[in-house]
Amino acid sequence: MSLANKVRERFAAEFAADPAFVVRAPGRVNLIGEHTDYNDGFVFPLAIDRATFIALRPRNDNRVLAISLDMDDRREFALGDLRSPTEVDWIDYLIGVAWVLQERGYPLSGWEGVVSGDVPIGSGLSSSAALELATARAFHCVSGFGWDTQAMALACQKAENEWLGVNCGIMDQMISAAGLQDRALLIDCRSLQTDSAPLPAGSAVVILDTGTRRGLVDSAYNERRQQCEAAARHFGLPALRDIDSATFAERAHELDGLSRKRARHVVTENERTLRARDAMNAGDALALGALMIESHVSLRDEFEVSSPALDAIVNCANAEPDCYGARMTGAGFGGCAVALVRTESANDFVERVSKRYLEATGNQPSLYVTRASAGAATVYP
Ligand code: ADP
Ligand code: MG
Repeated sequence: MSLANKVRERFAAEFAADPAFVVRAPGRVNLIGEHTDYNDGFVFPLAIDRATFIALRPRNDNRVLAISLDMDDRREFALGDLRSPTEVDWIDYLIGVAWVLQERGYPLSGWEGVVSGDVPIGSGLSSSAALELATARAFHCVSGFGWDTQAMALACQKAENEWLGVNCGIMDQMISAAGLQDRALLIDCRSLQTDSAPLPAGSAVVILDTGTRRGLVDSAYNERRQQCEAAARHFGLPALRDIDSATFAERAHELDGLSRKRARHVVTENERTLRARDAMNAGDALALGALMIESHVSLRDEFEVSSPALDAIVNCANAEPDCYGARMTGAGFGGCAVALVRTESANDFVERVSKRYLEATGNQPSLYVTRASAGAATVYP
């Protein structure tokens, strides 16, 4: 049964009526453009075919009652009395979105409904952004305010940053809000302008979860950010986005060895990300795959945010003749990789890479063939 039907049925069982609306918001995977967002650069994610759904109907007492099928939990809150979390729980994502929308002047009405999703939680595919955008869309349905994808993405990012205390960039919320079927979305993280390009015909995107997570991520992330900011300051620029690779090559000797490596990744990754758009527009899967392979090498050797598990799964993927290219995706040190493979071989690819990676590392991976899907929307009625 589809998830849309599942939440509808559970709604009917709980409330003895049909829901007035079913909303959907997807998770995401970043194809290329890693550690570029906080350098005011470019990212190129796609919304995946895994999403969070909410079946709901309005309430007229300014309260929200949400039943999470995945958490097996039922929680309620009053829109006039939002409490900031001491320890974050799933309902705080809904409360955070209500908080920021009200703070930004949207008049909210209450609702009751059933929430369920199939974005794996905590594996870097942004189940949190999917839940936030689904919540924003639920409020849109019952409250009657207009839906502006960029405004909703910014609001949900603010909820995640300030209510939930997670220091993320704009990519996750923007792609969950603005994703397009069969296309990847190029986001300029400075202007928030977007452009899209089709995934090359005959190619499929595969997500490869290494099954590993690392606690190191936060401190290493902050350290990389500081190194990038210091390098930009050295060049007298607002961000590393503002230097091209030719100028960088002339002046790179001015930086110490470590800063040079960090900055070189960002400068070249921004250029690869823009070249990825050209490759997609030309339908050139080989060129896109080659850029993904270069991106991984740069993340591994210059930015140094890969891990043995990520390198192993990327190597297993790239060894397959029908893989155009694979790279780590997300912050690094564990989590997922992403590969572009020939569609007709995608299922074989999944089977073979799973087996070889398990043999090589002893970790059980999860691989999914995914499709680029549309951003947050009302799917019923
Ligand atoms: P991710 O990498 O998946 O975004 P996060 O730690 O940022 O991981 O967010 C995961 C949290 O979001 C969960 O612990 C839960 O609180 C909430 N969440 C995500 N999806 C759901 C869902 N389907 N139902 C309830 N809560 C969810
Ligand atoms: Mg998240």
